[in-house]
Amino acid sequence: MTVAELRDRARRVMPGGNTRSTLFVPPHPPYAVSGAGCVVTDATGHRVVDCNNNYTALIHGHAHPELVAVATEAVAAGSAFGLPTESEVVCAELLRERTGLPSWRFCNSGTEAVMMALRGARAATGRDLVVRFAGSYHGTYDAVVDPAAPGVPGSVADSVVTLPQGDAGALADLLRSRGSEVAAVLLDLMPNRAGLRPADPAFVEQAADLTRRAGALLVVDEVITLRLEVGGLHTRYGLEPDLVTVGKVVGGGFPVGGVGGRAEVLDSFSPLTDGPVSWGGTFSANPVTMRTGTAALRLFGAAEVAALNARGDRLRGELAGRGVPVSGSGSLVRLLLPDPGATWWRLYERGVLAGTNGLLALSTPMTDDDVDAVRDAVLSAVEGAA
Ligand code: PMP
Repeated sequence: MTVAELRDRARRVMPGGNTRSTLFVPPHPPYAVSGAGCVVTDATGHRVVDCNNNYTALIHGHAHPELVAVATEAVAAGSAFGLPTESEVVCAELLRERTGLPSWRFCNSGTEAVMMALRGARAATGRDLVVRFAGSYHGTYDAVVDPAAPGVPGSVADSVVTLPQGDAGALADLLRSRGSEVAAVLLDLMPNRAGLRPADPAFVEQAADLTRRAGALLVVDEVITLRLEVGGLHTRYGLEPDLVTVGKVVGGGFPVGGVGGRAEVLDSFSPLTDGPVSWGGTFSANPVTMRTGTAALRLFGAAEVAALNARGDRLRGELAGRGVPVSGSGSLVRLLLPDPGATWWRLYERGVLAGTNGLLALSTPMTDDDVDAVRDAVLSAVEGAA
């Protein structure tokens, strides 16, 4: 089966042949067949070093032997139950230990985690309004996408205020006039779509302070950034968020989302309280995700986090030294090149799978030689574009 044949079949059964807007690259992306370590093989047999890692989720690359063993054992013992399992308790205990956030709930994606955090924040404060910053991506939930996006009802857009990225003055103005309506201020400390630049610590401190003084909750979206520190990027800023959303690396390669935070806030979900917030999810906290995710996090301790960040810092430094515009922090590197689609294909032909916006996410199976190969492919792709 050729790529064109598969694409044509896809177009007959899926709109535009696509089921995941975020990974589309025109005219149509290649099809993956298998992955091992940091290498992915596509349907034509072309092999690429995977710097996409399913949009930063696969911290240990593909088919890590230990994770395959854990997942296989979990599947063999029953993949999902209409009862809780010990695995969710173990995963929550580990996240508590790593982040210092005492209370946790799980779901199936980062999108759902943001939905759950905002529902919880609205319930806990009795307020409706959510504040977000332009250019920050928080998944596909109505309330956090661009209010002008097709399909988003005006009534939802009315319950959200979008402020300029990193603008503490705008936040102060808004909270002065409408502070008593605001349930949550949603912050990404290194927003990928806004350029993957770490937030200015002075802005973060002011935003946290203003939010607290308005009686609103600070929700930090760590769906991508959790991998940058053992306890997530907020720990680097010394922040104490009310709620944190996680996903991606926490699932060990399987679908996952989670919300952690202060017990008083998350207690609004407790079935032991009067009139709790209801939140289901047929596959939430399934033992395959929980057990494999817990194992993946255990393989990503302080030493591994630091080593991977050092590799990313080296890659970013060497690219910047050769005049390539780059951003990011640690194991997340972003190429700030015009025409990301064309760059994506040039990288792919040179053996590197990037994110469609130029994001390069490193994984633990990568060696120094792999990182050198990625650097050389980027340099060649950039020269190819000149
Ligand atoms: N928040 C952030 C910061 C993200 O980058 C993403 C996805 N890339 C999400 C939320 C949504 O996560 P998911 O794709 O698992 O729904």
